[in-house]
Amino acid sequence: MRHRLEKLQKEALEKILSANDLKTLAAIETQFLSRKSELISVLRGVKDLPAADRPMIGQLANTIRGQIQAQLNKKKSSLESGRDSFAVDASLPGQEPDRGYLHPLSQFMRRVIRIFHSMGFEVVEGREVENTEYNFELLNIKADHPARDLWDTFYVEAPDKKNTDELVLRTHTSPAQIRAMETRRPPIRLIVPGRVFRHEATDASHEATFYQCEGLVIGQGVAVSDLIGTLKLFLQELFGQSVQIRLRPEYYPFVEPGMDVDMRCLICKGEGCSVCRRRGWLEMLGSGMVHPQVLQNMNLDPRRYSGFAFGLGIDRLMMLFHGIDDIRASFVNDFRFLHQFTQR
Ligand SMILES: [Zn+2]
Repeated sequence: MRHRLEKLQKEALEKILSANDLKTLAAIETQFLSRKSELISVLRGVKDLPAADRPMIGQLANTIRGQIQAQLNKKKSSLESGRDSFAVDASLPGQEPDRGYLHPLSQFMRRVIRIFHSMGFEVVEGREVENTEYNFELLNIKADHPARDLWDTFYVEAPDKKNTDELVLRTHTSPAQIRAMETRRPPIRLIVPGRVFRHEATDASHEATFYQCEGLVIGQGVAVSDLIGTLKLFLQELFGQSVQIRLRPEYYPFVEPGMDVDMRCLICKGEGCSVCRRRGWLEMLGSGMVHPQVLQNMNLDPRRYSGFAFGLGIDRLMMLFHGIDDIRASFVNDFRFLHQFTQR
């Protein structure tokens, strides 16, 4: 009799332990503690046992009943609170862990780089602290040249505290062109993506720091038509085949002739809207044929070689691409803004 009770006890506790839901638990309760269960019938039959066995068997059966009831209650409450480590429903969809993603500017920069890469351009990186020779002089912007006022400059104190006007936070990515040409010979096709700095007040369309992507192509017989073809193809890859562009003369000291490239407004198709300020055209980038003096500064003979250069404002281009109306949005790190760009 005692052996039978102990076997019941073991079986019941094992079943409770492996039960994964309340329904199974209720069935276990019925099996072991209902009126018709073996344990209860043993308890009921105690009075018919020989007098000497009654106390021991009665006590054991009662203890086991109490133990099973206690384990059932314990399991029931843990299942109800969902904390039971056995209560795993493998059919539920998984929870995706939070993963990091690239800043929208980085994503867009990569898109730009991919396009130029597919056109055979090499990617070159420059330095953010430049000396004035590379940032200005070699790009045909002399110290007394009025054009230097076009770039409001942050000057950086040199480590030796002498010549404090020699180091600057680069005002454009163009100095990297000169540096790249110190170790390369034509034909070359390169882009320089990177951050630049201007000492100016910020508003909805101006920042003191922003990203540019510079381009330089040099070879024999490179003409304006190559410039137009390259930049039109780039804008078509970015905004679609219906892109139309036009060129306007513009002055930049390191190119001759210099040209701004406009794109027909994608919103109004040239009719005029608030995005294009009723002009029907959007100013996209500055460009031009590399100035003969700059070619000479690169140790190239302007009679033999020609080339074109262009500079894209990445932040502004990204705003247009995503339809964002405030350039500062990309610098404030507001999660409500950033979470809209979680694709990788
Ligand atoms: Zn428009």
